[in-house]
Amino acid sequence: MAHRTHRNGISVMQLAEMFPDEEAARRWFESRIWPDGRHCPRCKSTRTREVKAAKPMPYWCTDCRKYFSVRVGTVMEASRLPLRKWVYAIYLHMTSLKGVSSTKIARDIDIHQSSAWHLLQRIRKAFDAGEDNLFGGPVEVDETFVGGKEANKHESKKLHAGRGVVGKTAVVGAKDRATGKIKAEVVEDTTAATLHDLSR
Ligand SMILES: [Zn+2]
Repeated sequence: MAHRTHRNGISVMQLAEMFPDEEAARRWFESRIWPDGRHCPRCKSTRTREVKAAKPMPYWCTDCRKYFSVRVGTVMEASRLPLRKWVYAIYLHMTSLKGVSSTKIARDIDIHQSSAWHLLQRIRKAFDAGEDNLFGGPVEVDETFVGGKEANKHESKKLHAGRGVVGKTAVVGAKDRATGKIKAEVVEDTTAATLHDLSR
Protein backbone atom coordinates (compact mmCIF):
# COMPACT_ATOMS: atom_id res chain seq x y z
CA MET A 1 0.00 0.00 0.00
CA ALA A 2 1.34 3.37 -0.93
CA HIS A 3 2.13 5.49 2.00
CA ARG A 4 -0.12 8.41 2.54
CA THR A 5 0.88 11.44 4.49
CA HIS A 6 -1.73 12.92 6.73
CA ARG A 7 -1.29 16.53 7.55
CA ASN A 8 -4.05 17.01 10.03
CA GLY A 9 -1.80 18.62 12.53
CA ILE A 10 -1.79 18.62 16.25
CA SER A 11 -4.50 20.44 18.06
CA VAL A 12 -4.12 23.36 20.40
CA MET A 13 -5.40 21.00 23.09
CA GLN A 14 -2.55 18.57 22.44
CA LEU A 15 -0.10 21.43 22.53
CA ALA A 16 -1.50 22.51 25.88
CA GLU A 17 -1.00 18.99 27.21
CA MET A 18 2.58 18.90 25.97
CA PHE A 19 3.39 22.23 27.58
CA PRO A 20 1.36 22.44 30.77
CA ASP A 21 3.66 24.99 32.37
CA GLU A 22 6.78 27.10 31.94
CA GLU A 23 8.97 24.34 33.37
CA ALA A 24 7.83 21.94 30.64
CA ALA A 25 8.61 24.54 27.99
CA ARG A 26 12.03 25.24 29.46
CA ARG A 27 12.92 21.55 29.60
CA TRP A 28 11.74 21.10 26.04
CA PHE A 29 13.83 24.00 24.71
CA GLU A 30 16.83 22.74 26.65
CA SER A 31 16.48 19.25 25.20
CA ARG A 32 16.29 20.73 21.69
CA ILE A 33 19.12 23.22 22.07
CA TRP A 34 21.42 20.94 24.07
CA PRO A 35 20.61 17.45 22.74
CA ASP A 36 24.01 16.16 23.86
CA GLY A 37 23.94 17.82 27.23
CA ARG A 38 24.14 21.38 28.45
CA HIS A 39 26.98 23.57 27.30
CA CYS A 40 27.86 27.22 27.54
CA PRO A 41 26.40 29.13 24.57
CA ARG A 42 29.33 31.57 24.63
CA CYS A 43 32.46 29.42 24.91
CA LYS A 44 30.87 25.96 24.31
CA SER A 45 32.34 24.63 27.53
CA THR A 46 30.55 21.70 29.11
CA ARG A 47 31.90 22.64 32.52
CA THR A 48 28.68 24.20 33.70
CA ARG A 49 26.52 23.92 36.75
CA GLU A 50 23.03 24.80 37.78
CA VAL A 51 22.52 27.62 40.22
CA LYS A 52 18.89 27.34 41.13
CA ALA A 53 18.68 30.72 42.84
CA ALA A 54 20.08 32.53 39.81
CA LYS A 55 16.95 33.10 37.77
CA PRO A 56 16.49 34.03 34.98
CA MET A 57 20.01 32.78 34.21
CA PRO A 58 20.09 29.47 36.06
CA TYR A 59 23.41 28.11 34.79
CA TRP A 60 26.99 29.06 35.46
CA CYS A 61 29.91 28.48 33.10
CA THR A 62 33.06 27.60 35.01
CA ASP A 63 35.28 28.56 32.08
CA CYS A 64 34.07 31.98 30.96
CA ARG A 65 32.58 32.64 34.38
CA LYS A 66 29.21 33.92 33.25
CA TYR A 67 25.61 32.96 33.88
CA PHE A 68 23.47 31.75 31.02
CA SER A 69 20.08 30.32 30.18
CA VAL A 70 18.68 28.34 27.28
CA ARG A 71 17.78 31.62 25.58
CA VAL A 72 21.34 32.93 25.27
CA GLY A 73 22.57 32.77 21.69
CA THR A 74 19.08 32.29 20.23
CA VAL A 75 16.45 34.70 18.96
CA MET A 76 14.87 34.41 22.40
CA GLU A 77 17.84 36.01 24.11
CA ALA A 78 16.52 39.55 24.44
CA SER A 79 12.95 38.42 25.13
CA ARG A 80 11.31 38.40 28.50
CA LEU A 81 8.25 36.53 27.30
CA PRO A 82 7.67 33.16 28.93
CA LEU A 83 9.04 30.27 26.88
CA ARG A 84 5.58 28.78 26.76
CA LYS A 85 4.36 31.82 24.83
CA TRP A 86 7.23 31.32 22.41
CA VAL A 87 6.10 27.74 21.90
CA TYR A 88 2.55 28.83 21.14
CA ALA A 89 3.66 31.61 18.82
CA ILE A 90 5.98 29.23 16.93
CA TYR A 91 3.14 26.75 16.70
CA LEU A 92 0.81 29.44 15.30
CA HIS A 93 3.49 30.49 12.84
CA MET A 94 4.17 26.93 11.70
CA THR A 95 0.57 25.85 11.39
CA SER A 96 -0.72 28.86 9.53
CA LEU A 97 -0.52 28.34 5.80
CA LYS A 98 -0.78 32.00 4.90
CA GLY A 99 1.23 33.24 7.83
CA VAL A 100 -0.11 34.23 11.19
CA SER A 101 -0.81 37.88 11.93
CA SER A 102 0.57 39.66 14.94
CA THR A 103 -2.98 40.59 15.96
CA LYS A 104 -3.88 36.90 16.16
CA ILE A 105 -0.75 36.11 18.15
CA ALA A 106 -1.50 38.99 20.49
CA ARG A 107 -5.05 37.76 21.03
CA ASP A 108 -4.22 34.06 21.33
CA ILE A 109 -1.31 34.26 23.74
CA ASP A 110 -2.44 37.34 25.57
CA ILE A 111 0.34 39.81 24.90
CA HIS A 112 0.37 43.37 23.61
CA GLN A 113 0.28 43.73 19.88
CA SER A 114 3.62 45.51 19.76
CA SER A 115 5.17 42.57 21.63
CA ALA A 116 3.47 40.17 19.25
CA TRP A 117 4.85 42.07 16.28
CA HIS A 118 8.42 41.84 17.62
CA LEU A 119 7.93 38.21 18.54
CA LEU A 120 6.74 37.36 15.05
CA GLN A 121 9.67 39.23 13.50
CA ARG A 122 12.10 37.18 15.58
CA ILE A 123 10.38 33.90 14.76
CA ARG A 124 10.50 34.72 11.04
CA LYS A 125 14.13 35.70 11.35
CA ALA A 126 14.95 32.41 13.04
CA PHE A 127 13.14 30.42 10.40
CA ASP A 128 14.60 32.40 7.50
CA ALA A 129 18.09 32.07 8.87
CA GLY A 130 17.55 28.42 9.71
CA GLU A 131 18.81 29.27 13.12
CA ASP A 132 20.43 26.12 14.35
CA ASN A 133 20.33 27.06 17.98
CA LEU A 134 16.58 27.14 18.03
CA PHE A 135 16.42 23.79 16.31
CA GLY A 136 18.94 22.04 18.44
CA GLY A 137 21.82 21.59 16.08
CA PRO A 138 22.50 21.38 12.37
CA VAL A 139 19.71 19.00 11.57
CA GLU A 140 18.30 18.50 8.13
CA VAL A 141 15.10 16.88 9.20
CA ASP A 142 13.91 17.23 12.72
CA GLU A 143 10.82 15.32 13.62
CA THR A 144 10.89 16.23 17.26
CA PHE A 145 10.26 19.93 17.01
CA VAL A 146 7.10 19.65 18.99
CA GLY A 147 6.29 16.63 21.04
CA GLY A 148 9.07 14.27 20.30
CA LYS A 149 9.38 10.55 20.40
CA GLU A 150 7.97 9.04 23.54
CA ALA A 151 10.57 6.28 23.58
CA ASN A 152 13.43 8.78 23.78
CA LYS A 153 12.07 10.68 26.68
CA HIS A 154 12.92 10.42 30.28
CA GLU A 155 10.17 8.73 32.27
CA SER A 156 9.12 11.98 33.95
CA LYS A 157 8.67 13.67 30.58
CA LYS A 158 6.56 11.01 28.95
CA LEU A 159 3.07 12.06 28.18
CA HIS A 160 1.47 8.80 29.31
CA ALA A 161 -1.26 9.35 26.80
CA GLY A 162 -1.18 5.81 25.55
CA ARG A 163 -0.62 4.87 21.97
CA GLY A 164 -1.75 7.16 19.24
CA VAL A 165 -1.11 10.59 18.01
CA VAL A 166 0.02 12.43 21.11
CA GLY A 167 3.58 11.17 21.30
CA LYS A 168 4.03 10.56 17.62
CA THR A 169 2.55 13.58 15.98
CA ALA A 170 5.24 16.03 15.20
CA VAL A 171 5.84 19.35 13.67
CA VAL A 172 8.59 18.64 11.23
CA GLY A 173 11.21 21.20 10.44
CA ALA A 174 13.12 20.36 7.30
CA LYS A 175 16.23 22.30 6.58
CA ASP A 176 17.27 22.94 3.03
CA ARG A 177 20.96 22.12 2.82
CA ALA A 178 21.68 24.63 0.08
CA THR A 179 19.87 27.65 1.39
CA GLY A 180 19.86 26.80 5.06
CA LYS A 181 16.18 27.66 5.17
CA ILE A 182 13.81 25.83 7.41
CA LYS A 183 10.42 24.84 6.23
CA ALA A 184 8.04 23.37 8.67
CA GLU A 185 4.93 21.30 8.43
CA VAL A 186 2.72 19.56 10.90
CA VAL A 187 2.53 15.89 10.05
CA GLU A 188 0.69 13.13 11.76
CA ASP A 189 2.94 10.36 10.60
CA THR A 190 6.68 10.73 10.83
CA THR A 191 7.81 7.72 8.89
CA ALA A 192 10.89 7.81 6.74
CA ALA A 193 8.73 8.23 3.65
CA THR A 194 7.07 11.31 5.06
CA LEU A 195 10.34 12.85 6.06
CA HIS A 196 11.90 12.12 2.71
CA ASP A 197 8.98 13.79 1.01
CA LEU A 198 9.33 16.88 3.12
CA SER A 199 13.08 17.17 2.80
CA ARG A 200 13.08 17.44 -0.96
ZN1 LIG B 1 31.47 29.69 28.88
